[in-house]
Amino acid sequence: MTSEFDLIEKYFSRRPRHTELGVGDDAALIRPTSNAELVISTDLLVEGTHFFSDVDPASLGWKTLAVNLSDMAAMGAAPRWATLGCVLCRGFGDGALTASTSALSASDSWLDQFSRGFFSCAEHYSVDLIGGDTTRGPPGAATFSVTIIGEVPRGEALRRTGAQVGDNIWVSGTPGRAAMGLAHLQGRVVLTGATLSECLAALHRPTPRVELGLALRSIATSAIDVSDGLLADLAHVLTCSSVSAHIQIVGLPEPGLARDTYLSGGDDYELVFTAAANRTPEIAALSKLFELPLHNIGMICGDEPGTLCVFDNCGADITPAHRGFDHFGQSRFEKAS
Ligand code: ADP
Ligand code: MG
Repeated sequence: MTSEFDLIEKYFSRRPRHTELGVGDDAALIRPTSNAELVISTDLLVEGTHFFSDVDPASLGWKTLAVNLSDMAAMGAAPRWATLGCVLCRGFGDGALTASTSALSASDSWLDQFSRGFFSCAEHYSVDLIGGDTTRGPPGAATFSVTIIGEVPRGEALRRTGAQVGDNIWVSGTPGRAAMGLAHLQGRVVLTGATLSECLAALHRPTPRVELGLALRSIATSAIDVSDGLLADLAHVLTCSSVSAHIQIVGLPEPGLARDTYLSGGDDYELVFTAAANRTPEIAALSKLFELPLHNIGMICGDEPGTLCVFDNCGADITPAHRGFDHFGQSRFEKAS
């Protein structure tokens, strides 16, 4: 039987690269870069709410960190350190999967794969895991919580409050893919071929737009990452900036699930940002540099703060009644039985 300490030592202690004191003491010590502001955020992933019980552990490990890195990207911050809280279900460390609680009895091999996924993301984005907490919980309630700490030069963080009337609104990548992947797994749509693999990759191994966020520091007036849906998250920027928006998207899918997920599907971790019209050439250059589509999807206006209107390519008003995830129901990661 593996003890909690053996487990931490085995799966969560890797030599940190830019940390004074990491895992193993009562707390970690970090030395921030001078003149940097620390940027701190926490995200929780809960079984049944954010992931299926039979999720691939390596993908879950990746995603647990990636969703937090996305918040750093949205602030224009360089991610540096993370702590990891794990609530594991009964049975971890006994080396065997039990049928009733499936993978989340968290056997050694489950944790091994989870930690490999987590560290592959951490290494890619140069994040040190510097501590955490590990405990048992009841079956079906596995939970992973990361607190991420990043750095940004003083005063340069991208905030939700900076959007100005006349700014263009941009989105990275292709929103809606993760929600399409989820719909496929729930049997609400049948995807095949490259579309299926792209949508499942977006759902299971999202790519946080960290490099884009860093490059936007000097260009964007505001930014947010898409976790609850394009319109829902953009609405936060509008409210915080006391502005409104007109949205018209070239290539918006036809009415149906593809359009709904583009506008309102969550879990994409793309960036939505605003920038003055004269920054368009720089944004086009970033799109080339990062080989990442950046689409101009509309404009910030001065109507009733917090409101947004969506138009189709013929100019018809297609503003949906629901902006975000509620629309897909409360329990997102349960499969039809
Ligand atoms: P304490 O009793 O002081 O809370 P713990 O025994 O919980 O300490 O943890 C021992 C060390 O292991 C601490 O440095 C803690 O930060 C680290 N740690 C615990 N769980 C994790 C985890 N899941 N990932 C990384 N570090 C962890
Ligand atoms: Mg502890």
